[in-house]
Amino acid sequence: MRYALVNNERVEASHGLSALCPGCGQPMVAKCGDRRVHHWAHRGRRTCDHWWEPETRWHRQWKSRFPAGWREFVHVAADGERHIADVRTGHGLVLEFQHSHLRPDERAAREAFYPNLIWVVDGTRLKRDAPRFAAGGQMLRPTPWRGIYTVAFPEECFPPKWLDCRAPAFFDFAGAEPVAPDATPIERYLWGLLPGRAEGHGVVVALGRGGLVRAAHERPQILDAAQIVGVLQARFRAARVAAMQEARRLPSGKRWKRGRVWRRPRPRRRF
Ligand SMILES: [Zn+2]
Repeated sequence: MRYALVNNERVEASHGLSALCPGCGQPMVAKCGDRRVHHWAHRGRRTCDHWWEPETRWHRQWKSRFPAGWREFVHVAADGERHIADVRTGHGLVLEFQHSHLRPDERAAREAFYPNLIWVVDGTRLKRDAPRFAAGGQMLRPTPWRGIYTVAFPEECFPPKWLDCRAPAFFDFAGAEPVAPDATPIERYLWGLLPGRAEGHGVVVALGRGGLVRAAHERPQILDAAQIVGVLQARFRAARVAAMQEARRLPSGKRWKRGRVWRRPRPRRRF
């Protein structure tokens, strides 16, 4: 963790300092080596929050975009269960930055624990994720909203483990590296898959990193995912109904002949 408590003040790790864990109150030691980002670790045992993952440079960069008081927020549920959220905004939105592998059941548990959550996923950890999105993203279709798209086969764009999220999942395909001004849109934007489907179509959002940070400051949700998916669902349904009515109208005078069914041609005898 980046912060631990010294005299009830949140402080960053530095050589020789000792502090207490804001989650469990146990002693922590400062780890200030060269190999990993400077951090606090529990003495002796791994961590009090089994959801916590070792921080990478990518984690630190993301969290640094938010006020220090929002980072590593100890979230306590009504039943006393507590976890340390990566970022919790003043509006109560929790942002979890996920680099390492996450089992689907654990992902679902976090979505249940944090009622207002978005995921930001490091899309550079697995080599196949960015190429998959580059190929599948060709099939994105625009909607009347700028930066919002639909896709008939979301599984061709996003990793299978993230398809059935209950929270929006934004993929960061640039990772910890700075994004060049001439980078591809895949790297320039975060690509979010919204929960739910509009008549089977996935709803995808392209959002700049600054846009996400700004929205997190300004409002309780980055975007109203349920409303967007609902409106697109209604549009798809209306288009389908209109197409069916059109199809019914067309064959006047030229009806399909009844009784003509396609039969498999009989195999010819060769001998
Ligand atoms: Zn602890």
